[in-house]
Amino acid sequence: MKSSEFDLAIVGAGMVGVSCALWARMRGLSVLLLDENPPGSGASYGNAGTIATYACVPVNSPDILWNLPSLLFSKESPLGIDWAYALRNLPWMLAFLRNCTPARVARITDILGDLLARADSGLDPLIEAAGAGDLMVANDCLYIYSTAAGFARAATGLEGRRRNGVAFDVLEEAAIRALEPALKLPIHKGLMFRGARHVRDPQALIERLHACFLEKGGQWRQTGVTRTEAADDGVTLHLADGGTRVADKVVIAAGAHSKSIAGSGAEALPLDTERGHHLMFHKHGGLVSRPVGWADGGLYATPMAAGLRIAGTVEIAGLEQPKSPHRLAYLKRKAHQMFGDIGAPDEDWLGFRPTMPDALPVIGRSPHSGRILHAFGHQHVGLTLGGITGRIIADLAEDRAPNFDISMFDPKRFGSKSGSR
Ligand SMILES: Cc1cc2nc3c(=O)[nH]c(=O)nc-3n(C[C@H](O)[C@H](O)[C@H](O)COP(=O)(O)OP(=O)(O)OC[C@H]3O[C@@H](n4cnc5c(N)ncnc54)[C@H](O)[C@@H]3O)c2cc1C
Repeated sequence: MKSSEFDLAIVGAGMVGVSCALWARMRGLSVLLLDENPPGSGASYGNAGTIATYACVPVNSPDILWNLPSLLFSKESPLGIDWAYALRNLPWMLAFLRNCTPARVARITDILGDLLARADSGLDPLIEAAGAGDLMVANDCLYIYSTAAGFARAATGLEGRRRNGVAFDVLEEAAIRALEPALKLPIHKGLMFRGARHVRDPQALIERLHACFLEKGGQWRQTGVTRTEAADDGVTLHLADGGTRVADKVVIAAGAHSKSIAGSGAEALPLDTERGHHLMFHKHGGLVSRPVGWADGGLYATPMAAGLRIAGTVEIAGLEQPKSPHRLAYLKRKAHQMFGDIGAPDEDWLGFRPTMPDALPVIGRSPHSGRILHAFGHQHVGLTLGGITGRIIADLAEDRAPNFDISMFDPKRFGSKSGSR
């Protein structure tokens, strides 16, 4: 094998990969970042933009087990499922359901809570280095429950948030309507997550981080990576354009597509996708002054630089199918229930959340080789956790121990056979 050209090569330039690249470069490593697409054009492009340090309660919940029939069959459910796909991926589905018991959910909540509490320490140095403070808005985040039953079901989650030090107030209907007068949806109660921030344009944030990475001497190549080959003295990357590159270590940060990189050890892990859609209403960015999550609807309305973004819902249908007209129609219906007739959306989008069945990201050394590092599976909170993931990966790339326990994110937690946990 030819000798290493880089200390670190990173596959994938979403929020996670770009954050890894900038952290590693700021530590002085020579870094090559590769993606078949422009930076920030995967899931990181169209998310709801919340820096959701409060979001320690996973989608997995005992509620899903108890309400499965209505969640799966109601036209008004925020969860959609392609049965043929789900049956082909039964081990992932069963592992996901196994992680819906109260004990597992409490454990996941505490692990995520601890990681989310560290998120700003990974993100803020990147925002500062890239001069991206103008893209950040600090105006809290509101979460609304339309019914007493919905709010009652959230009790365990609220307890989990309190246990993990999340700062929030419970607001009554009148206070919410005074804060956000454009809201027309039924309101029972709401939560105000104090100190929460959001990003006015997630892709612009990633472009700024990427530009900063280049300014600091990082190298960028727009091409896919098909295969990695680890040896004792380095890792060879096989590129879609036929070339190869050799790096001392390699990071797999290709989001929901990470399994497609042969030889990386990601192929064997139970990574799947929770598809999410968004609609943009360009003229309506002023309708709310902060992100408003609608718990019963499974979505956020976020004021963005380009207008109002209605983003969310979960669809289990894999990576191959196009946008779902049903999901898009659902989002439009919900947008109209939230704000009245705001007309037709100007844009729509489908993105692929990378999700492990235990709702925890995979951050650590590949079962295949200590020279291959995994950084994917950040499900609903990858924009929030990209920065801290980058800091951990920079530690591992330098063979340093991170300053907290990361064993819960170890790729080896799934054992040698995938889908088992
Ligand atoms: C509707 C929706 C709303 C969301 N809202 C929020 C939110 O408010 N807050 C939050 O924190 N998170 C949110 N998320 C989740 C967040 O967007 C994701 O967790 C995050 O973007 C994942 O980042 P990533 O870098 O791992 O993946 P991606 O952004 O998908 O990046 C992966 C990159 O890898 C590249 N790639 C794939 N295969 C290859 C290959 N073989 N070779 C080279 N490159 C490759 C892709 O082109 C892509 O650019 C939301 C997600 C959705 C869908």
